[in-house]
Amino acid sequence: MLNIIGSKRLEALKDKCGIFGIYGKGEDVARISFFGLYSLQHRGQEGAGITVTDGRRLKSVKGLGLVPSVFDKAKIESLTGFAAIGHTRYSTTGGNKLCNVQPIVLDFGPDQFALAHNGNIINAMELIKTLPKTVKLESTSDTEIMGHVIKNSPGRTWEEKILNSFEKLQGAFSMVALTKNKLLVFRDTFGFRPLVLGKLNGGAYVACSETCALDTIGARYVRDVAPGEVIIVDEKGFTVAGRVKSKRKSFCLFEYVYLARPDSIINKQLVHQVRQRSGELLSYEAPVAADMVVAVPDSGTSAAIGYSKASGIPYGEVLIKNRYIGRTFIQPEHKIREMGVKIKFNPLRQIVKGKRIIIVDDSIVRGTTIKKIVKVLKSCGAKKIHVRVTSPPVTDPCYFGIDTPDKNQLIASHMKVKQIEKHIGADSLAFLSLDGLIKASRLKSGILCSACFDGRYPMPVTGGFRKDVFE
Ligand code: AMP
Repeated sequence: MLNIIGSKRLEALKDKCGIFGIYGKGEDVARISFFGLYSLQHRGQEGAGITVTDGRRLKSVKGLGLVPSVFDKAKIESLTGFAAIGHTRYSTTGGNKLCNVQPIVLDFGPDQFALAHNGNIINAMELIKTLPKTVKLESTSDTEIMGHVIKNSPGRTWEEKILNSFEKLQGAFSMVALTKNKLLVFRDTFGFRPLVLGKLNGGAYVACSETCALDTIGARYVRDVAPGEVIIVDEKGFTVAGRVKSKRKSFCLFEYVYLARPDSIINKQLVHQVRQRSGELLSYEAPVAADMVVAVPDSGTSAAIGYSKASGIPYGEVLIKNRYIGRTFIQPEHKIREMGVKIKFNPLRQIVKGKRIIIVDDSIVRGTTIKKIVKVLKSCGAKKIHVRVTSPPVTDPCYFGIDTPDKNQLIASHMKVKQIEKHIGADSLAFLSLDGLIKASRLKSGILCSACFDGRYPMPVTGGFRKDVFE
């Protein structure tokens, strides 16, 4: 049995991921899942997996790396069945291990239960202690602990067990789960992470993290999975098994800032438009004279368009991104991360030279990316570099499924805006206010989680399930 408590292996436990599930007799469920996961690649690039059921047993293909490197034609064709779940995995440090790649499949004799999870269970360490001594954990994933908690909760059916496990599971979980004969879809009562239902023309139901996956596979959006809801998808279509009352909703604001794809619709808001409005509002909050507005591609693009539109300063491109290099965070070592920034963006020197440039990015976390970019643009002869960030300073770590680093690594936790401005070498620096960001989302502040910007966590996080707390 792996000893998780007090172990370095805890570092693998933070996940920000993409999930996908389908139930459809006669559909090529593995291939559809593959394309679904492909469009959720931005939510996780460390590993991917698909588990299918043919009614007799579950079968999985999982691996480290990007979706197209984990699956080839033969592997997809080996996954025959009528329902499937899939996962793209992402963690900051040390988590690059095959045992943590999801779906996590638990074997309970003839019974099997597979789970794919987006989120983070903050009381997982306490939950381990409540499990029967016979439980042998095979990964360092909180998802495996969740599976055992569910299995050991009262109830005749899996859905009853899931409903009865909610009060024990503290934290964020948007989930798809698979048994031999049904797909189960459920979401924590706070609704931290997105989760939607869709339907294919042939009648098959799908569930996934973001609507962009529905568009890719040609499915129609049906509705969001409500916070606290447990849904069964089987041959009868989809049925709500139950709904645990949501005392407080707390959707992650950072999904709009960075995590989600701009073409996804979340809480009825197109992410691209939320980002564009963020840019517009920032141009009113922090105007500055310049020759052009540019983006840190791709995450700052929608917002830069908004800033340009509202300010009347032309939008242009000065950084060409190598799209085949993963997100900079994927490299845990600081040195490699720095190199990652360099190999990721190449400047258009001729255009930069002599210009006053407003560069828009969605967020500053450690400050690594923007510092490098300012340096590169200055070395190309830029006259002025004004940095505009379309979110407030990230001051506090996330315990609910985003890989923001430990507090001491968050530059805004120990530096004021002016100090950061100096540190990154910009001529000016401004962040969008929290009010501005909420306004851009067009949602009520009471249903949003903004803890990474203001430290106001929607539930107590003391002793939260994080490496910095337990190591
Ligand atoms: P940093 O370089 O540490 O300041 O990180 C900020 C840059 O990383 C920005 O360009 C963001 O688009 C991007 N970013 C923000 N949050 C995350 C995250 N959780 N994972 C990966 N990249 C991120």
